[in-house]
Amino acid sequence: MDAITASARVAALSNAQIAELLTGAAESADGHRKRALQRAARAAFQWPEEAAAVVAEGRSLTQLPQVGPWIATAIESLLADPPEHVEPPEIRRGFLALAEARATLAANPDALASLRSDLQMHTTYSDGRATLREMVRAAATRGYAHVAITDHSKGLPIANGMDEARLAEQARDIAAVNEELASSGQRIRVLHAIEMNLSPSGDGDMDPAALASLDLVLGAFHSKLRVTEDQTERYLAALRNPDVQVLAHPRGRRYNVRLGLRADWPRVMRAAAESGKALEIDAHPDRQDLDVELLRVANQAGAFVSIGTDAHSVGELGSIELGLAAALRAEVPRARILNFMAAEELAAWVSDVRANG
Ligand SMILES: [Zn+2]
Repeated sequence: MDAITASARVAALSNAQIAELLTGAAESADGHRKRALQRAARAAFQWPEEAAAVVAEGRSLTQLPQVGPWIATAIESLLADPPEHVEPPEIRRGFLALAEARATLAANPDALASLRSDLQMHTTYSDGRATLREMVRAAATRGYAHVAITDHSKGLPIANGMDEARLAEQARDIAAVNEELASSGQRIRVLHAIEMNLSPSGDGDMDPAALASLDLVLGAFHSKLRVTEDQTERYLAALRNPDVQVLAHPRGRRYNVRLGLRADWPRVMRAAAESGKALEIDAHPDRQDLDVELLRVANQAGAFVSIGTDAHSVGELGSIELGLAAALRAEVPRARILNFMAAEELAAWVSDVRANG
């Protein structure tokens, strides 16, 4: 093989494909090697650059997280002689790795800087690990104009969901935080939102009067996520719920754990577009829900899209890169992505959706 052919083949194997090949190798390995392969496969999705590029530049792969000398040699062999096809099973398909997301962002240099908000994150009011003020302080360093705090509602006690009284207490705390931010000259503002639990019939679990005073209401399914029958009716019912503006992590899938729900997606996306509501890109690395493929369907239908990291800690705010890259890959126009709206535009959008029911 000549050098040009070799480098062309090397460039063809992405970190996500390497992850899949390491996962396959782990299945036939034992003991500490099995665990090392599994750890490296998971870490590959978070490597900051393509392993192929590291090797092509003559650098050692051991500088990447979870890559020791033995794993480095295994990856070098894969890159030197890649298989013709790498096709993950459905439960691991359609997940972007950080390095490829960053390549997409690099090709759209102003996109990340133009993003005004992150529209899903949790605090210690429900199951987040950081307090409200810690999350806002961390989000401020990312340059956002506003963020939506979306703690869980009472129907999800396992996530310490809030009832109406605690939601009201949180409203007072958020108002105080916004005053502190304004008086200290900071740009960022906090939107009071919620991730309301939806029953499989699309009903919420909170008093509509309490929801009406919020800046944004996300609705999400957290039960019966493993059913295999078509769930189109469930989605149509959720989109008819007058209290909800954004359908969060629509499919409920999780990397290598759960496939997520099935539906007649073009029909669901058309209903979303007609209602004027938004479908979410939950940018958590293990969710990526919607993914690029379904975002293309949503885009075709003309539906709005909302990007949220679903961060439960300060570090997870960085996942916004995965969500934005997915939207860019699906070519969703900025005018239909809530995160590019200024706070007043978003507020006007929410009132329009509420007025439409
Ligand atoms: Zn959720």
